[in-house]
Amino acid sequence: MTYKDVGGADEAIGELREIIQFLKEPEQFERLGGRIPKGVLLVGPPGTGKTLLAKATAGEAGVSFFETSGSEFVEMFVGVGAARVRDLFEQARKAAPAVIFIDEIDAIGQSRGGVIRMGGNDEREQTLNQLLSEIDGFTTNATNPVIIMAATNRPEVLDPALLRAGRFDRQVIVGNPDLIGRQQILRIHSKNVTLAPDFDIERAARMTPGFSGADLANIMNESALLAARRNAEHVTILDFEEAIERIIAGLEQRTRVMNDDVKRTVAYHESGHALIAALVPNADPVSKISIVPRSRGALGYTLQMPEEDRYLIRKEELLDRIAVMMGGRAAETIIYEQISTGASDDIQRATELARRMVTEWGMSEKLGWVRYAGQQMQYLGGAVEDNSALSPETRDVIDAEIKRIVTEQAERAQGLLSQHRKALDMLTDDLLRCESVDGSAVAAALAGEERVCEK
Ligand code: ADP
Ligand code: MG
Ligand code: ZN
Repeated sequence: MTYKDVGGADEAIGELREIIQFLKEPEQFERLGGRIPKGVLLVGPPGTGKTLLAKATAGEAGVSFFETSGSEFVEMFVGVGAARVRDLFEQARKAAPAVIFIDEIDAIGQSRGGVIRMGGNDEREQTLNQLLSEIDGFTTNATNPVIIMAATNRPEVLDPALLRAGRFDRQVIVGNPDLIGRQQILRIHSKNVTLAPDFDIERAARMTPGFSGADLANIMNESALLAARRNAEHVTILDFEEAIERIIAGLEQRTRVMNDDVKRTVAYHESGHALIAALVPNADPVSKISIVPRSRGALGYTLQMPEEDRYLIRKEELLDRIAVMMGGRAAETIIYEQISTGASDDIQRATELARRMVTEWGMSEKLGWVRYAGQQMQYLGGAVEDNSALSPETRDVIDAEIKRIVTEQAERAQGLLSQHRKALDMLTDDLLRCESVDGSAVAAALAGEERVCEK
């Protein structure tokens, strides 16, 4: 396996190249002063090629590959899981240079604190502790490099201890592929399939938005079976179409495959975020906008890339950030004159930021330079704020100030988007056509330039 076998994951591969360089030429890497990585966590929905990427990383570097899955440990007797972890690391160390891959690490690595115990967790805890001590116990050095890779689609449930520096402190996001990515994946999986001369891969990719790499591999395989069943000489786009229907039926109505209306709404929403980020003076530039669902719950996303590390953030910048968060819903109201549930995460983040502005950072004139945020308390593993020292009147003012800040920025976002309505339409069309675009698309839309999907 090499990276040639992985399609549509250029960003993830870019981030993994350093690992290869280290595995291949550890002395060289060390001599140049590179900090040797230890653990890499691959994060993404099922079937997007995390296992494949881990294997291909070992393959590219030409080192041994050791694989296990967290779910295998769950049913074991106490002590067995921990022993297995020890064995695995010992084998890998002997075979070094090597890559250890732990799939579904959330099965053993769930947060230990807090939640009420129902028993049966001892094994997991022992296994996790063994894993942590194995990771800490060896120093990756140039003579026998071992890299630990792990995969999960639920990073939020992982025990924070796993993510600490020197453990899985690198995270690589692996998402569902966009249009170009799906073309690459379909090409990879049609290598041994006889496609009809007029089989249009791009058209096939357009028919499969929201599908993972594994889904696409399945569909291609199913198409070949269908073509064989009707004794055809080659696979046509009609076979492919039929295969999609079968796979979709097998997947049961999955929300990952969006209908056109939903797609358009999501495209407007994300374009709204991106345009506001470009229009306000203090926002980080947009690096990527996508309407390919990245995780359960999220329908699209807009990535902003900070230009520098920030230590102090001015009030104006915070307000601009809130305006950007409100940009999604603002676009929806302008276009549809109605609103959807697609903004709940934006609203939560904006509210949280506004709350901190008034209760922690003294940024409301009404409330002054006073701290109102309560003491953080640990309660059942989560952080809870103790606000019992605040008078009801003060709480009312805090709530009113939060509402004012968020509402002002939402109105500001709406105003800006109304002024740039044409750019909003153009960027949305661009997104609907290409599914994911980089920051230059925002500038092009604002300049009124038509674009084609980039290869
Ligand atoms: P994950 O580990 O993320 O659940 P896998 O790596 O197990 O996904 O993917 C299962 C199979 O689906 C792979 O063996 C491969 O055939 C196919 N596949 C998934 N993602 C890709 C991709 N990005 N490029 C090519 N094939 C892929
Ligand atoms: Mg896998
Ligand atoms: Zn949003």
